[in-house]
Amino acid sequence: MSHSGNETFDVVVVGAGNAALTAALAASAGGARVAVLEKAPLKLRGGNTRFSGGVFRCTYSNLADLVPIVRQHDSPETVVADPYLPATYQKDIARVTGGRADPELTSVLIDRSYDTVRWMADLGVPWEFNRAVGAVTIPGASQVKLPLGGALRVKGEGVILSTTLFRLVEEADIPMLYETQAQRIVMAADGRVTGVEVRGPNGLQVLNCRALILGSGGFQANPEMRTAYLGPAWSLVKVRGTRFDTGDMLRAAFDSGAQSYGEWAGCHATPIDADAPTYGELRLTDKTNRLSYPFSVMVNLDGERFVDEGEDFNLYTYAKMGRQILQERGAVIFQIFDRKTTPLLETRYNTGTPVTADTLSELVARIEERYRALGIRNAVMLKTLEDYNAAVQDGAFNPDILDGKRTSGLRPEKTNWATRLDEPPFLAYPVSLGITFTFGGLRINTNAEVVDYLERPKP
Ligand SMILES: Cc1cc2nc3c(=O)[nH]c(=O)nc-3n(C[C@H](O)[C@H](O)[C@H](O)COP(=O)(O)OP(=O)(O)OC[C@H]3O[C@@H](n4cnc5c(N)ncnc54)[C@H](O)[C@@H]3O)c2cc1C
Repeated sequence: MSHSGNETFDVVVVGAGNAALTAALAASAGGARVAVLEKAPLKLRGGNTRFSGGVFRCTYSNLADLVPIVRQHDSPETVVADPYLPATYQKDIARVTGGRADPELTSVLIDRSYDTVRWMADLGVPWEFNRAVGAVTIPGASQVKLPLGGALRVKGEGVILSTTLFRLVEEADIPMLYETQAQRIVMAADGRVTGVEVRGPNGLQVLNCRALILGSGGFQANPEMRTAYLGPAWSLVKVRGTRFDTGDMLRAAFDSGAQSYGEWAGCHATPIDADAPTYGELRLTDKTNRLSYPFSVMVNLDGERFVDEGEDFNLYTYAKMGRQILQERGAVIFQIFDRKTTPLLETRYNTGTPVTADTLSELVARIEERYRALGIRNAVMLKTLEDYNAAVQDGAFNPDILDGKRTSGLRPEKTNWATRLDEPPFLAYPVSLGITFTFGGLRINTNAEVVDYLERPKP
């Protein structure tokens, strides 16, 4: 292994997702000599960004604000948008974080959100209106009401976002170093950052730089760090995205005196196909999600229901639902539908292979047969489904509202969208939990400089 120190750049960027590549493009446009380090090989490059649905949240006063962003890629006459003003964004962040988000950083995020998306459009990222996640079709009209705040998505999702950014990096002649893992921050005696030690195709090497930008994601793909920070239950969970976000630079930054910040025991995770691979695969991207459970009956390996599947719309419950699944034995459950509810399934269910049958007893027997290794209590499962059917109350089913169509006499009850499993074919989808990203990070100031425990920016 060689260990040389002769490469010098103005800026070295660690990572090749959206954060890193947009930073590299901005630095290069400002005249800096930039290099980008990507731990992944070329084929698997691009981090979680490449797996994402490409939905971005930003402020806007009206639909007219969004037109210069989507440009020729979409038609404004097909959608309506309520204003999403900074105060609403602020409230949303306060609600989902329990009021614990950093106020100064939150202000920067909100104040720059619109300009950032517009800048990305200027760079060449194609945007469209987000009709998929959280959008509502207006009854009797041919228009779609866009989800508040999440009105825009990259046309072609994360795959096209990633492809576009790599093309722009190439056009800007920024060197990309693949299979190159940054592992240590090099500092002068006075604490100034002077470079980064990398492990790459040429062995160990130090790249000298005047500024180091970290865009290397969280630690969600590192089982050891998941176990240490999130808890033992997280050691075996599936990872929805890249396998390369393993927290290397978080550790390296702490070794260099950076202040830790954020919710280190917290993460984003969703219900996904239990048959999905251990790490995300680019042929599946975000299509392993299993979020149509409000219209299902969910049973665990012990054959029992364990939550109110219809507590609320899935956008408000999926994070909680994922955590609940993790608490069940084996962290695997089944979502069961019949002919009436299968048309309501998100198209993402097409990536999975359900167990199917024409009677509930046959369905349970086939679940037991296919997933025998998991130890299924099939007799209990059948009784649970029969008890559920008997407890469903009459009433009108309406998937677009909290319809109050419920069960009576069960623990837990299903409080909305409770329909009987009585029309074959019956389908059972195996579901587990997939981690998306972790919340623990480094403290930065409003200039995005990493600070130490005395709140001083790292020079
Ligand atoms: C399935 C899925 C769907 C999602 N959908 C959405 C969505 O619709 N909207 C939304 O806002 N968010 C979504 N997200 C989250 C979103 O993808 C991420 O928050 C965002 O892309 C993170 O960007 P990033 O640049 O910070 O990190 P990443 O895109 O993860 O990039 C990190 C980069 O760092 C590299 N790296 C790591 N360690 C090193 C090292 N030591 N040396 C060199 N390189 C290193 C990695 O290889 C990678 O290139 C989704 C995520 C997933 C997994």
